[in-house]
Amino acid sequence: MSSATGTRGKAFVISAPSGTGKTTVCHKLLASDPRLRFSVSHTTRPPRPGESNGIDYYFVDEAEFQRLIEEGEFLEHAQYTGNLYGTSYAAVETSLEEGIDVLLEIEVQGAKLVRDARFDAVFIFLLPPSLEELDVRLRGRGTDAENVIEKRLAEARSELEMADVFDYAIVNDDLEKAVAEVREVIEAERTGDSLRVRARLGRKRVMEVWRKAAEKP
Ligand code: 5GP
Repeated sequence: MSSATGTRGKAFVISAPSGTGKTTVCHKLLASDPRLRFSVSHTTRPPRPGESNGIDYYFVDEAEFQRLIEEGEFLEHAQYTGNLYGTSYAAVETSLEEGIDVLLEIEVQGAKLVRDARFDAVFIFLLPPSLEELDVRLRGRGTDAENVIEKRLAEARSELEMADVFDYAIVNDDLEKAVAEVREVIEAERTGDSLRVRARLGRKRVMEVWRKAAEKP
């Protein structure tokens, strides 16, 4: 099927260490951009209160997830804190063929797999303002035990090492600013006029600044 304009949609992958505010950023983007559709993933994790099947995730058991892997239904899949998560081709291809852009909110390993598969997408990495700030935010949630927080922080450190998978890096020190910057990236990529945005928010440049901040005593 092709879109009315005949133009295929674009895929945008957003990843971030846990606690960076990725879900809030994605909700704000989706609420304000009718040309952007959420890619609904499959997961073996049980639904949280308020989550619906087919909207937040397709909630499946391990046997069903394994069957989907064997049948080659997934563009990528990964294990994260003991549960399986995966993006099906159907979740992205239907929209792209309709000419609608798709937002994949996935963790860093999954983003790397999408990159390695040479799937045509724009990769955006959200960064916490500093590791200390991430520590404060994870503790501020008040939901995780000390050992879980330590595990998430260790994961965050190794995820930050994988930043070179991404085209853009955006520091979430101010939510509205971060959302505006992601919007700017999406608009620039849509129009094919991304040179100036890349100079400012391109991964290499932002990571250099971030590393310097992380080195501060
Ligand atoms: P949560 O259980 O909090 O909804 O998600 C846990 C992590 O899994 C988040 O970082 C989320 O972005 C990621 N995630 C959600 N869907 C997918 C997916 O389809 N593939 C991968 N690799 N990660 C996903």
